[in-house]
Amino acid sequence: MTGEKKKKTVKTIRIDVDKCNGCRACEMICSAFHAAPKYSSNNPARARIRVISEPLKDIYVPVYAGDYTPAECAGRDKYMIDGKEYEECAFCRASCPSRGDFKEPDSGLPLKCDMCEGEEEPLCVKWCITDALVLEEREEEIEEEEAQEELEIGLKSLAKKFGLQNVADVVARMTLSNKD
Ligand code: SF4
Ligand code: SF4
Repeated sequence: MTGEKKKKTVKTIRIDVDKCNGCRACEMICSAFHAAPKYSSNNPARARIRVISEPLKDIYVPVYAGDYTPAECAGRDKYMIDGKEYEECAFCRASCPSRGDFKEPDSGLPLKCDMCEGEEEPLCVKWCITDALVLEEREEEIEEEEAQEELEIGLKSLAKKFGLQNVADVVARMTLSNKD
């Protein structure tokens, strides 16, 4: 549907890299919150935030996991800021085939920050004692559009990895066995 306006809450996390000390508490709490069951384990490799941490260059930059992308960019970028050189694609938020960031370490499935859905405040923001992470919210009017759900994104990545037909077959088998 087009033409219809609706309200959307835009959540932004303001990241003050000058305040970040690289403690990685944000990675710990994120992975613990998203463990199944919740808080049963923690593993920063599963976090939906990663802190670029290079103490010798005094670099500490939190980066949030964004969307899954099935293909890498045609070229990569590399930043120099205030005389400090950052790694290739350092600020990119994508779960991308070019690297291991923002993927489940065991399955390779994409990880994406969900702003800690259901919580009053994102837990990384709550646990950052230096206030390097601050949540800001505002309302925006947008055209009605279908949001691509996380399920669909996850299924697409599975389809790319195993082939759509295989995924469909497994789902069909699971559906049948659930009927028993
Ligand atoms: S919790 Fe805060 S200070 Fe610690 S690494 Fe994360 S953003 Fe930086
Ligand atoms: S907002 Fe929640 S899901 Fe996103 S990185 Fe922070 S703790 Fe993880």
